[in-house]
Amino acid sequence: MTVITTSDEMRRAVGSWHAAGDTVCLVPTMGSIHAGHLALIDAARQAARRVVVSIYVNPTQFAAGEDFASYPRNFQADQQAIDAAGGVDAIYAPQTMYGDNHATSILPAGVAQPMEGASRPHFFTGVATIVFKLFQHVPANCAVFGEKDFQQLAVLRQMVTDLDLPINLIAHPTIREADGLALSSRNHYLSAGQRAIAPILYQTLSTCAGEIRAGGVIDETLDTAKARLLAAGFDKIDYLDLRDAVHLATSTDASADDRLLVAAWLGETRLIDNCAIGGG
Ligand code: AMP
Repeated sequence: MTVITTSDEMRRAVGSWHAAGDTVCLVPTMGSIHAGHLALIDAARQAARRVVVSIYVNPTQFAAGEDFASYPRNFQADQQAIDAAGGVDAIYAPQTMYGDNHATSILPAGVAQPMEGASRPHFFTGVATIVFKLFQHVPANCAVFGEKDFQQLAVLRQMVTDLDLPINLIAHPTIREADGLALSSRNHYLSAGQRAIAPILYQTLSTCAGEIRAGGVIDETLDTAKARLLAAGFDKIDYLDLRDAVHLATSTDASADDRLLVAAWLGETRLIDNCAIGGG
C-alpha cells in the first residue's frame, strides 16, 4: 500500500489514475481507524476504481483546551487495519496541511450554526477548511463521510454546493457496537464505568424517536430524554434537538426523515450521535 505524504505527489497519483480512465474516491479520516472508517472505505471501493484514505489530525478543528494533543495517533496500527481489510490504493498522510503563514479559512454559516456550531464555534471552520484543502490535494470524483457526524455532512454538502466543487459526496450510515454505541475514536477515553453508561445515549435517542413516532409532544419528549440521560449518569447535555435532515431547521412537525441529534458529556468525554425518527 502506497503512503503519500506530499500534496504534489498525491495530485500526481490522482492525475495518473484519471489519465488511465480510473475514478477516484477519497475517505478523509483523523486516523485511529476503526470499523466505522473501514465501512466508509468499503463504500468507497463500491463507488470508484481507486480509493485514497487520508489520515490527518487537523489542529484547526480543535479549540484550546480540547483534545488535540491527546487525540489517539498510531499510524502503524492504522496502516495494518486498512491493510487487513483489503487495503487501499494510497494512504495520504501529510505531515502538515498548513503553511507557516496560513491565513485563509472557509467560514460556513447556515447549517453550521446550531448545535455543534453553537457548542464549538471554531469547529466547522476547521473542518470545512481542511476538507476543502484535502479536495485540492486529492481531486477525487467522490468522497465518503459518515452519518455519525450528521451535521458535518450537511455542512460539507452546503460547501460543495455553494463553492461549486466538482465532487460527489456519499453518506454512510453509522456503524455501532453490538450495544448500540456509535464507534468513535473518542470511545477510547471512556473508563469502564463510563463505557457501561455510553450505550444509553443511542438507546435514549431510539426510545425518543419511537415516542415522537407515536405522536408524543416533541418538546416534552425531548425534555424527558434529556432527563433520562442525566439520570443514567451523563454529566451534561450540550443539545438534544429534533431537526429536519437537510436544512437542520428545528422541526415541530416530525416526519420520518427528521433527525434527533445529541451531544452529551461523560466526564471529560463528549459523545455525539443521531438517529432518524423513522429509524436508522
Ligand atoms: P474521524 O476520523 O472521526 O474524523 O472520522 C472520519 C470519517 O469517519 C467521518 O466521515 C466520520 O463521520 C466517519 N465515522 C466516524 N465514526 C463512524 C461510525 N461509527 N460510523 C460511520 N462513520 C463513522
